[in-house]
Parts: sequence; structure tokens; C-alpha cells
Amino acid sequence: MAFEYAPAPESRAIVDLKSSYGVFIDGEFVDTADGHTFKSISPATEEVLAEITEAGPADVDRAVAAARRAYDDTWSTMPGAERAKYLYRIARIVQERSRELAVLESLDNGKPIRESRDVDLPLVAAHLFYYAGWADKLEYAGLGPDPRPHGVAAQVIPWNFPMLMLAWKIAPALAAGNTVVLKPAETTSLTALAFAEICRQADLPPGVVNIVTGAGDTGRALVEHPGVDKVAFTGSTEVGKAIARAVAGTAKKVTLELGGKAANIIFDDAPLDQAVEGIINGIFFNQGHVCCAGSRLLVQESVYDDVLTSLKRRMATLRVGDPLDKNTDIGAINSAEQLAKIRTLSDIGEAEGAERWSPPCELPDRGYWFRPTIFTGVSQAHRIAREEIFGPVLSILTFRTPAEAVEKANNTPYGLSAGVWTDKGSRILWTANQLKAGVVWANTFNRFDPTSPFGGYKESGYGREGGKHGLAAYLKGGEN
Ligand code: NAP
Ligand code: MG
Repeated sequence: MAFEYAPAPESRAIVDLKSSYGVFIDGEFVDTADGHTFKSISPATEEVLAEITEAGPADVDRAVAAARRAYDDTWSTMPGAERAKYLYRIARIVQERSRELAVLESLDNGKPIRESRDVDLPLVAAHLFYYAGWADKLEYAGLGPDPRPHGVAAQVIPWNFPMLMLAWKIAPALAAGNTVVLKPAETTSLTALAFAEICRQADLPPGVVNIVTGAGDTGRALVEHPGVDKVAFTGSTEVGKAIARAVAGTAKKVTLELGGKAANIIFDDAPLDQAVEGIINGIFFNQGHVCCAGSRLLVQESVYDDVLTSLKRRMATLRVGDPLDKNTDIGAINSAEQLAKIRTLSDIGEAEGAERWSPPCELPDRGYWFRPTIFTGVSQAHRIAREEIFGPVLSILTFRTPAEAVEKANNTPYGLSAGVWTDKGSRILWTANQLKAGVVWANTFNRFDPTSPFGGYKESGYGREGGKHGLAAYLKGGEN
């Protein structure tokens, strides 16, 4: 007998939403030149949360000018130990306000509160603390006795981990002495605007952090602005390529964190119960809106039936629904557009002959939802095995030998992450050595730590975020 769950909603009273937000330039929330706005909605209910201002080229220009002044006048000449104090202060305020920020993130993005509260926000604070610690130790970064910042960094981030991607971008940039203009994704601006408030609360000098909200055009105006010295982008491979073309021939430094189609490899000697948990975490964490998601499962043939049976049993226990309910495992799909893309690719999977399965589960009437889904009978030529679906959809393939597993895992234009499940340390090392992926997890998946570099090969982009490598990207003489 299964126990019924009573609703356990997290209160949203802790969030003080304004009806509208300006852009954050030179330490102030200001109106834009032309006053265009757009709405941010909750993808779980389609309720309008707030009116957001769309920054145009003139506003981007103002933001870059403010960042340049702050760079020249204060931030780049301030001793590292002083910059660290601001970063520590911001990190502490984020911790103090983490419940509010987690609720806001779940409201605006649709991710379960269990994840925003226990994963996103703790990692945001950890990144800020980690890079605060570097600010007065740059001479130990391996880039000479006095490495210098680039100047003004243009940072464009996606909607899947809005505040975490902001922290990944802003923390190392500021620690290294750069100033920033950041553009959040159109569907998830609210935690970036809350972060702007936190910068004010921390008395961060005006212009060191500027937040320009808007869609792709705002992002393009920002990365193409001639006053920008460094571009950092996370998002789709398509836009990443457009950005690489746009900055080619300029002196701008670039890091690109793009898509992925990670193989999660289960060998027959793996601890299968743990592996099934790893498969679930690999593809259903954050509704599968994860660039490093384990979206291609490779199972050794001899354990295929056992793995599939356990996986289906486990999937039937996943709870899909209200992101603010503390018992929810899978929240809402971030936007109608993303839902349409997931539906299209899943339909193509069926049309190409793969077999689709989802556990029975009721979905709410309003909002954007997709059942956790697996495809079996998938071949390497199927589009669902090649393209990033960016949703709760797993493609399952099989293999017989370790060599075949590696060959299939590497048969992708991407190379961001991979997972290996086996009892043998030697097999972990052998496999990891041959996988063309920036991150390889062994007997775990989707683990993040601010001290560890993260980034891709091939069409997954170039440059690293996190750790000392992530710091180097914001210093002259670093790899990028
Ligand atoms: P995207 O279109 O690449 O968007 C990422 C960011 O770039 C957003 O802030 C976006 O603005 C902005 N942008 C769009 N066009 C731009 C341009 N020409 N110049 C500069 N900035 C631009 O990605 P998405 O729409 O969020 O998602 C599409 C696909 O990207 C997903 O389905 C997934 O395959 C992939 N993705 C990967 C990651 C990752 O972490 N690697 C994260 C998210 C998405 P707006 O969104 O506001 O228009
Ligand atoms: Mg939203």
C-alpha cells in the first residue's frame, strides 16, 4: 500500500514581488530609453509575476559605460582584500536571504523548491564564498606575480539555473577585478534583479554589477558592444556559434558553455540500485533542463532487463506538480516554447520507431508540464539519441563490451559530461580516460562544486568555469 502525501507547500509570503522592475545600471534601478516591457510568468500556473523592462542598445550602452567607469575608478585599483570583503558580504546576504531567493527561483523558473532550496541556493553561496577567497590571492593563480583583469565582462546566461549561472559568472569576474554587465534569460529575470538589490544592500560600488533584462536582442547588443573586453555565455550551441562569429576578429576574450548529450554508462558490475538513482538524478533533476544531463543511457546488455524494471518502478514514484510543494520531484517546464520543443522531439522519437514509456501521473490543468519519459529501442541514428531535448526524456541504448560503450558514448558532436557506473576502480579510470567529455562522474551524477572546473569539448563550448581554471578566464594570460 502506498501512503498518500498531504500537500506541503512552501509559503510564498517571504517573497516581496514588485509589480514592475527597471534595469539595474550604475547602482540604480532605472527606466529604459524606450520603455518597452515584457512579463515574467510562473510556468506552473501561467500567473503573471511581474513586468520586466526590456533593455535596448542605448541602455546596454549606458550599462557598459557605467561598468567601464567603475572599472577605471574603483574596482580594478582596489586591493584584492577589499574586493573580497564585498564578495563575502554578498555571499552572506545570499545565505541570509536564501529561503526567499529559493521561493522566487521556483516561482519564476518552475523548478521544485527541494532543488532550489537544497541545491541551487547553497551552490550560489558556495561559489561566492569560494571566489571571495581568491580575490587577494591572484598571484597564486599560476599567471604570474600580478595578473590583471580584462576590464568589462559581458555575461549572458540561460533560464535553467538562473541564479546559479549568475553566481558562476559574477563571482570569478569580480574576484579577478573585472566589472560586469549581465543579461539574464527573458523567462527568468527575477532572481537576477533580487541579486541587484543584494548588491545595493552590500554597498557594492555603483557600476561594478549591472543587470540588463531583455531577450536575445539585448544579449546580442551586449556581446557586440565595442566597450566590452570579455564575453561569457551559457546557452545553446546555436547562439554560442553566433556569438563566436560576432566576436571573431575583435580583441574580446570569450568563454562558451553550450549544450550536451551526455552518456550515462551502466556496466554489468555496477551497484544497480544506486545506478538507478543516478539515472533518475541524471535525467529528471531540474526537469532535465540541464546541459550536462545524462540524457543518453548506455546499459550493458546483460543487466538491461534488471535496470529497466527497476528504473520503471522508481519512475512511478516520482511526484510531478507544484514546484513550491516540498514533496515535488519534478516541477514545471520553463516555458511554452520549451514544452513545444520537448513534445516535438519526443513525437519524432516515436515516429522514428523508438518505444515510449511514462509512468501514469496526473498533470495540473494550467501551466507547462511533461511526464517523465523514457525511450527504449533507440539507435544511434535516432534524433532523440543525437539532439539535446532539454527535458525529462531519456533515450536508452545498450552495449556489449566496454569498447563499444566508449565508442557509442563519444559518438556525439557534444562533449560536456558523462557518467560511469561500475564496481571496479580500474574500469572507471580506463573509461574516463577515453571519454571525450569535460566532466566524468563515477558512480554519481550531476555533482557540482565551486572548486572543480566545469566545461566542454567540441560543440559543448570552450573555457572552464569553477575552480582556478574559472578564475583564469577572467585574468589576462588565462587560457581564453
Ligand atoms: P539560448 O537561446 O542560447 O539562450 C541563452 C541566453 O542567450 C539567453 O539569455 C538568451 O536570451 C540569450 N540570447 C539569445 N540569442 C542571443 C544572441 N543572438 N546573442 C546573445 N544572446 C542571445 O538558449 P535557450 O533559448 O535558453 O534554450 C535553447 C536551448 O539551449 C535549450 O533547449 C538547450 O538545448 C540549450 N541550453 C543549454 C544550456 C546550457 O547550460 N548549456 C542552458 C540553457 C539552454 P533569451 O532567452 O532571453 O531570449
Ligand atoms: Mg518566469
